Formats: sequence, C-alpha cells, structure tokens
Amino acid sequence: MKNITILGSTGSIGVSTLEIVAAHPDRFRVVALTAGKNLELFVRQIKRFAPRIAVVASHSDVPCLKELCSGLDVTILGGVEGLIAAATADEAEMVVAAIVGAAGLIPTAAAIRARKDIALANKEILVTAGHLFMDLVTEFGVRLFPVDSEHSAIFQSIEGHRSKDISKIILTASGGPFLNTPTEQLSTVTVRDALNHPNWNMGKKITIDSATMMNKGLEVIEARWLFNTGIEKIQVNIHPQSIIHSMVEYIDGCVIAQLGTPDMKAPIAYALAYPERIATGVKPLDLTAFSGLTFFNPDTAKFPCLELAYRAISSGESMPAVMNAANEIAVSQFLAGRIGFTQIAEIIERTMAAHAAHSLQSIEEVLKTDLWGRECAREICKEIGH
Ligand code: NAD
Ligand code: MG
Repeated sequence: MKNITILGSTGSIGVSTLEIVAAHPDRFRVVALTAGKNLELFVRQIKRFAPRIAVVASHSDVPCLKELCSGLDVTILGGVEGLIAAATADEAEMVVAAIVGAAGLIPTAAAIRARKDIALANKEILVTAGHLFMDLVTEFGVRLFPVDSEHSAIFQSIEGHRSKDISKIILTASGGPFLNTPTEQLSTVTVRDALNHPNWNMGKKITIDSATMMNKGLEVIEARWLFNTGIEKIQVNIHPQSIIHSMVEYIDGCVIAQLGTPDMKAPIAYALAYPERIATGVKPLDLTAFSGLTFFNPDTAKFPCLELAYRAISSGESMPAVMNAANEIAVSQFLAGRIGFTQIAEIIERTMAAHAAHSLQSIEEVLKTDLWGRECAREICKEIGH
C-alpha cells in the first residue's frame, strides 16, 4: 500500500490521478488532498477518498469547506501553511505535484525536504527553479518521477541505458489547435478557439500554453533538468497525431520511442506504481487505425514562444522564472479577454527584454524574481490590453 498526497486534486491531472487510485484500492491510499477553488468537486473527492487532511488554497474558503465537511473525520486547513502540511503529512510516501504554475513551488519543495518521492506534473517548478529543485532532490535522496507525457516517454526510453550514450532527446508536440491556422489570422482567434485542443483534454492554462507552443518551451526546460541534458541536445518535432510521446536517439543511431493512446492516466500510473505497470483503462493502441504518423519541424516564426524558452534557458538562471511569470500573467489576461492571442508572446518577450538575468541561490529568490516578472508583465498588459 502506497500512501499519497495530491496537490491540486480538483484539476485535470488531479482527477485522473484519483481515477487511478480508485481503480487500485489495494495499492494506493490518499492521505491528503488540496484544491484551489471548485469546492463542490473537492467535497465529493473528500467524501469518496477520505483523506486525513484537506486543504483549500484560500483561507477565506476554510469556513465554507468545514461546513460542507461537517461530520467527516478530516482536518481542514487553508493557505500556504495548509499546503505545506498536506505536502509533508507524516504517513505520505509520495506527493503528486499537480498544482498549476509557480504556486506549486513552496509545497513541492517542502515535500522534498520531508523526503517524499514526487510525481511531477507541475512543470513550472522546474522551469522557474530547476537547478535548485534538482539539488534538493539529490540532497534529500528522493525520487522524482515525470508525469508529463513527453517526459514519461523519455524516462521509459532511457531506462537501462547510459546517459552518456544519448545523442538527442526528441520531444514531440501536437502543434495545438492553430497548427494549420494562417499566421495572419492568429491575432483574431478567440479564447474558445484556443481552448479547443485537438488531442488532449487539460486544464485551461496548459491548453493555452499548447496553443502558443509555450508548453513545448516549458517542456524543453523541464527535460533539461529532469534528464540533466544540454539544451542543444533537446529537439522538438511536431507530430500532430500525439501517438509517439517522445523519443531518445543514441550515439549508435538507434532511436527508442514510447507510444500510446493519448491519455494522461498512462504516465500518471507509471509514476505512481514505478517500477511496476498497472491497469489504467487506457484504450490499447491500434496502429493500423492510423493512415500515417507525420513529423516536421516547428514554425518558430509563427509560434515565437518556443524560441523564447530556448533563449531564456540560455540566458541565465533567473530568465526562465521571469519568462514563466510573464506567461502566467499573459495567459490569464488572454483568458479574461483583455489581450489578443499574439500579444501573449509579445508580453513575454518584452518582460524578458526588461530583465537582466542573474543567478538564483534560493527558492525565496526565485519567488522574488517571479513577483518581479508578474509586475512587469501586468504593466505591459495595461499598456497594450483593452
Ligand atoms: P488544472 O488547472 O486543471 O488544475 C490545477 C489544480 O491546482 C487544481 O486543483 C487547482 O484548484 C489547483 N490550483 C490552481 N491554482 C492554485 C493555487 N494558487 N494554489 C493552490 N492550488 C491551486 O491544471 P492541470 O491541467 O491539471 O495541470 C496541472 C499541472 O500539470 C500544470 O503544471 C500542467 O502544466 C501540468 N500538466 C498537465 C497535463 C494535463 O493533461 N492536464 C499534462 C502534462 C502536464
Ligand atoms: Mg506534455
């Protein structure tokens, strides 16, 4: 029996994780759950999975959640201290980091310091503070299992191989909903168009990141830290069918790839049960149903965010944190209808241009840099938004 905590249980990854837990009651027990808003779903999860601790991100939601859970044997907490209590709960062995954005930094760092293994979906953590997190993982001797489908594919493709034999990591990308949209039409696409992802059903922020291809930029940086690889060895291929989830090329010319029906339950289950494989309910792959799997290079002029991510990781420790902060603000402003789609990249680029990269020695410094990036991006949004 593995005891787990899920940070962000009401999100897309959180819900899929609980589906795996529900399918394997003999293997997994939920110790703590945390949520941002969506109290209605959260209460249903608390009743169904009976965690010892349940946490809402905002203190102001605690009284309401307490009332909704009256009579249940659960400790209700709120705020960052609550998230830390969930992340460090004594009996938890593994913490699923499934909060979206830099908000996951503090609880996930606390989980590592409490020597919990991590199943990592929250990629923004490695984007903003990759070197610090990888140092923490080493210092506290925990294991970090990728949940992101591309990184799970790479993880599965490098097992049993020497890292010095890897010549290239090839991340695949669906290309998102605007792959075939003419560049000149991108400035007028709507929020609804951008949320209409062809292959994956995900939270809103990552769905917009997929439409701008910033998601792939974040994943390049995530791969750089997870697999301790030089950025020049990480390539992106557009693969619209999302069947090959990523590949690793070796110095002898052999390429190992991982394939499957696109469903996050597969990489989540692998992270939870590693090294075992367990039933997920994911539809088996029938390659004969595909008339062709295609691959081509991304159009970086049409989708500048990917290049911005390569530029950020090459510019010094603080730049990816600034890029991520600007992206979080720009995406939320786009979702709120205050800026156009192509202004997302413009805001990120201008925020990065206003920042002189420096080193980051602690998570506190990362948070300061993150705040600076948010403020700067908000100012730019005010200037150009409507
Ligand atoms: P989501 O928006 O559906 O869910 C996010 C969860 O975090 C929710 O439970 C929400 O309530 C909580 N949350 C949001 N802001 C919070 C805050 N400030 N404090 C505390 N809790 C907060 O997002 P998602 O799609 O599940 O993605 C989660 C993470 O996993 C992201 O980093 C994303 O990039 C990554 N990821 C997601 C997918 C996917 O298929 N959804 C795939 C790969 C990676
Ligand atoms: Mg991914």
